[in-house]
Amino acid sequence: VTGAARVLVVGAGPAGLYATTALAGAGAEVDVAERLPTPFGLVRYGVAPDHPKIKSVAGVLSRPFASPGVRFLGNVEVGVDLTPVDLARHYDAVVYATGAPLGRTAGIAGEDLPGSAPAGDFVSWYSGHPDAPDLSSLLTASQVAVIGAGNVALDVTRLLVKDPASLAGTDLPDHVLAALRASRVTDVHLLARRGPAQARFTPSELRELGELPGVDVLVAAGDVAGARAEAAEGSRAARTNVDVLCGWAERAPAGRDRRVRLRFRCRPVRLVGHDRVSGLVVRGEREELLPVEGVLHAVGYGASPLPGLPFDRDTGTVPHVAGRVVDPRRGVVPGVYVTGWLKRGATGVIGTNKADAGETVASLLADLPGLRRAPDRDADSVAALLERRGVPVVTWDGWRRIERAEERLGARQGRAVAKLADLSAMLELAGRPTVRG
Ligand SMILES: Cc1cc2nc3c(=O)[nH]c(=O)nc-3n(C[C@H](O)[C@H](O)[C@H](O)COP(=O)(O)OP(=O)(O)OC[C@H]3O[C@@H](n4cnc5c(N)ncnc54)[C@H](O)[C@@H]3O)c2cc1C
Repeated sequence: VTGAARVLVVGAGPAGLYATTALAGAGAEVDVAERLPTPFGLVRYGVAPDHPKIKSVAGVLSRPFASPGVRFLGNVEVGVDLTPVDLARHYDAVVYATGAPLGRTAGIAGEDLPGSAPAGDFVSWYSGHPDAPDLSSLLTASQVAVIGAGNVALDVTRLLVKDPASLAGTDLPDHVLAALRASRVTDVHLLARRGPAQARFTPSELRELGELPGVDVLVAAGDVAGARAEAAEGSRAARTNVDVLCGWAERAPAGRDRRVRLRFRCRPVRLVGHDRVSGLVVRGEREELLPVEGVLHAVGYGASPLPGLPFDRDTGTVPHVAGRVVDPRRGVVPGVYVTGWLKRGATGVIGTNKADAGETVASLLADLPGLRRAPDRDADSVAALLERRGVPVVTWDGWRRIERAEERLGARQGRAVAKLADLSAMLELAGRPTVRG
């Protein structure tokens, strides 16, 4: 390829946008196709609403759209609105960064009962993801179990027990705030299969749980016995987590209105109930029935295959070498790259995706001189194709209109932003789209 390379980045989450930044910096023309009308992936629809500092990375991720050679094609789903054949026709290279959006479940009997859901679905619901199932009914339970020992388990637990008044200044959609205000949840059982030294909590997030007003955090002394010795072999985070948990085990409950009980070496066995969850059988030292009416599975995320792209079902990722997509039978697929959670699985913080995207883009730039030139390089012809197919493309300006509407809605309520969750309302706000000019 000579002249500016034409690259499509698929997915406007952190990985896709870090890749876009690197590509634009190297002089490439970049289109970013995103199936939602909104950018930022899990920064918008995953990171907890009461962690605004982390969400502010959106400002950094927006920067490439100031370049004239970078366009946002929002509301465009690759595999549906654009096929692999279209991509080969219009782009010299494609970088897939579609993440790993599917919440996993613990794989236990009864988990399909209403009242049981992947924690990721609950996160999507409270974050206002337009495709999220309505999980407000979970908040009619007084006791909820959260299965998992990572930060997502902590996020959903915190949201379940936190005083809704303290969430009023966040960007939560109106209907979510209303549901949280009406919540009947008083007790959350946070269940970890393994011991305290093996928990994957970030220490600061764990500590935050113990600082919530109106909430008692309870740990049984027996659950942390021996944990300090075990953690001595482990990471600094593991040692700090164990210190925090041991501190809680020594603390007497203060009789507060809501409680989080952390349980370790506690295996969920089966959910019971007829038309919805009425209990969870767990096995620790003995088998017992927890009288919960809601169960959230915070045991990880997975990706699903994309049309025309190799996929390893065992790892839930796209096979690659340094970001170059590899077909197990035919070897490296020229001009096709992968980054982010789709490349390495659902691990790592937002910043991890920067180095990850850097590796992928370095491979792409190194390959560029030998790549086949896309036959149709006219930027307008992609726009025309989407228009012919009746896809209402949301441009960067269109997204900014949605953002401003969310700011106006927030300002009326004394907060910076109130998120919108309705897809057609967002598309309407984005206005009559045109990707030209
Ligand atoms: C609940 C939760 C909380 C988190 N909290 C934190 C935190 O506090 N701090 C932190 O550092 N990290 C946090 N993370 C991790 C962080 O969000 C991830 O590391 C990061 O978002 C992964 O980036 P990604 O771009 O690979 O995927 P994603 O962020 O998922 O972005 C993928 C994008 O691709 C789009 N897409 C999917 N399919 C298509 C398609 N076919 N066509 C077009 N577009 C498509 C999606 O709509 C999405 O916008 C959290 C993760 C979760 C799940």
